[in-house]
Amino acid sequence: MNAPGKSSHTVLRPEEAAGVLTVDLGALTANWRELKKRAASALCSAVVKADAYGIGLERASAALAEAGCDIFFVALVDEARRLRATLPTATIYVLNGLAPGTAAEFRKLRLEPVLGSWPEIDEWDAFAASSGEALPAAIHIDTGMTRHGLSREDATALAERMRLLNFRPSLVMSHLACADEPTNPMNARQIGEFRALASLFPGVPASLANSAGILGQTDAIFDLVRPGISLYGGRALLAGDNAMQPVVRVDIRIVQVRKAKKGDAVGYGAQHHLTQDGRVAICGAGYADGIFRAVGGSDTRAGAEAIVAGQRCPLVGRISMDFFAVDVSAVPDDAVKRGDYATILNEEIGIDELAAHAGTIGYEVLTALGRRYARIYRGG
Ligand SMILES: *Cc1c(COP(=O)(O)O)cnc(C)c1O
Repeated sequence: MNAPGKSSHTVLRPEEAAGVLTVDLGALTANWRELKKRAASALCSAVVKADAYGIGLERASAALAEAGCDIFFVALVDEARRLRATLPTATIYVLNGLAPGTAAEFRKLRLEPVLGSWPEIDEWDAFAASSGEALPAAIHIDTGMTRHGLSREDATALAERMRLLNFRPSLVMSHLACADEPTNPMNARQIGEFRALASLFPGVPASLANSAGILGQTDAIFDLVRPGISLYGGRALLAGDNAMQPVVRVDIRIVQVRKAKKGDAVGYGAQHHLTQDGRVAICGAGYADGIFRAVGGSDTRAGAEAIVAGQRCPLVGRISMDFFAVDVSAVPDDAVKRGDYATILNEEIGIDELAAHAGTIGYEVLTALGRRYARIYRGG
């Protein structure tokens, strides 16, 4: 990934935006191929909920489809509608299930709800009966997370009613709670529970593994895998190397470079004081753009870093809504000026490094980036 600049796909002009978000679609599809390889004979889908984890649903999905992916998971019907407009023939599952009164829209757009409760099953079944079609849907079984999904008892009862159903279960699935820690005993418990419950639905493909499941639990692969974060270059396992390629780069436009003196306070709350005379670059993005307030620096706590003129420089002072400050004293005077860029994410500073400064995870960094960047899509 190179410096921001020319592309035919900017949505907002860089000089009118907070900065430039560059998405490497070639890295995205390379990550999908790598996960598919690791999933061996299982089918490899793509989880593209929340605007493909913030990178752009349409562009990401089109690139993945071109690479061979034809099964997608979104969270909402609204996301599914956008995806259907992009990919007329893909299989689209809606993870958040069937909201009351939406069955006709699911049928019209050929979407498959992920059914995780009796009221949803009853509504979809009745709709299938009245439309005279064995409409497909996924069955989501909760195996220990206490999130959307059928209990063991409900799943067993549903399996006994299989012959009476008017709809067609096309997938039986569950979700791992602790797969980011491969040795957590919860994984084996959930895999065992899922294997037993999935076997009650003979002939229906089974799916359990998210990114961390693919990378850390060979027993969790089953018939279909559902990677999300690994596609986007994020870390799925808490420990060890991350073999995925980075997909996003974020460059923030420098609004002003100013001289500052030892002892000067920087930012709201005057929580950071410069320890020597130097220069500070004021960058035009802030917590409204996913630069979390928690990544700022203070007298007692080091902030995150940005790359300016090829050098790592510390963020100083609190992050504002639309500004943050970088101490660029170490960068030669003539190497940084108004209109240049400070790189907050690239192949060197990954989403997980920035996330660590905020005490969060790469998923939250990506999905918080927001709409104020010019977007450039490369490759794919
Ligand atoms: C979000 C989600 C995934 C993808 O998880 P990652 O950790 O991003 O790979 C898979 N399955 C379900 C049910 C999800 O909600």
